[in-house]
Amino acid sequence: MHLMFFLSYLCRSTLCDGKLPHDNADSRGINRYFTISSAPYEKNIMITTRLIRDGGSSFKKALFNLSPGGMLEASNPKGNLVVEDFERAYVLIAGGIGITPFRSIVLDLNHKGKLKNVILLYANSNEEVVFKDEFDKISTENQDFKVHYVISPQHIDSSTIKQNVPDCTNWIYMIAGPIGMVKAIEETLLGIGIDRKDVKKDFFPGY
Ligand SMILES: Cc1cc2nc3c(=O)[nH]c(=O)nc-3n(C[C@H](O)[C@H](O)[C@H](O)COP(=O)(O)OP(=O)(O)OC[C@H]3O[C@@H](n4cnc5c(N)ncnc54)[C@H](O)[C@@H]3O)c2cc1C
Repeated sequence: MHLMFFLSYLCRSTLCDGKLPHDNADSRGINRYFTISSAPYEKNIMITTRLIRDGGSSFKKALFNLSPGGMLEASNPKGNLVVEDFERAYVLIAGGIGITPFRSIVLDLNHKGKLKNVILLYANSNEEVVFKDEFDKISTENQDFKVHYVISPQHIDSSTIKQNVPDCTNWIYMIAGPIGMVKAIEETLLGIGIDRKDVKKDFFPGY
């Protein structure tokens, strides 16, 4: 589910801290981090999240009950999943809703004509793969962008990386997703000889 909202400033990075005061807030409170899934050139700022109808948090219920014109607060954008060197090659590794920063990055690079040597490895627990159509379209149009989907019970492991990433020690790796997955993949990368400075990561706790 995607939700678009407007902030009062130009948001060019990947992450913001949202505050949504609401009645009868549960123990998880009124603040959440969300990654901006839209690209900087897109007109609206978009966040993307999952709604669990039964047993979900009071925050998510309040978020999905927002009407057009409703207000929430967001802090300054921040985050370290940023492509700084357009000459380097990048492997983006996403778990589930951890795909959000990579939609922004891939669309922005594509828009700038700088989507070169980028591989997306995207793991999901089922066939409901968020943004699949967009990634498939871009990879069909641009041979320099490759996407590989991994559906449970398969996981992204050292053989997935070696099979899909040629000369795998020469790339910059970005990982985003649930804490356990991010830590496991980081260890895998270090284990196959990737330099620690070439591994960037974002944890998505809370699921
Ligand atoms: C850097 C960063 C970036 C992030 N980016 C994104 C993003 O782009 N998109 C995104 O969706 N999330 C993102 N997150 C995670 C986000 O901040 C929330 O933690 C997440 O969406 C879960 O939301 P929720 O707590 O409202 O729970 P829900 O989504 O409603 O539920 C998640 C799970 O928690 C359980 N649960 C819900 N409420 C409670 C409760 N009161 N007590 C116990 N268990 C409960 C539910 O049963 C369910 O199993 C990011 C987090 C970080 C740190």
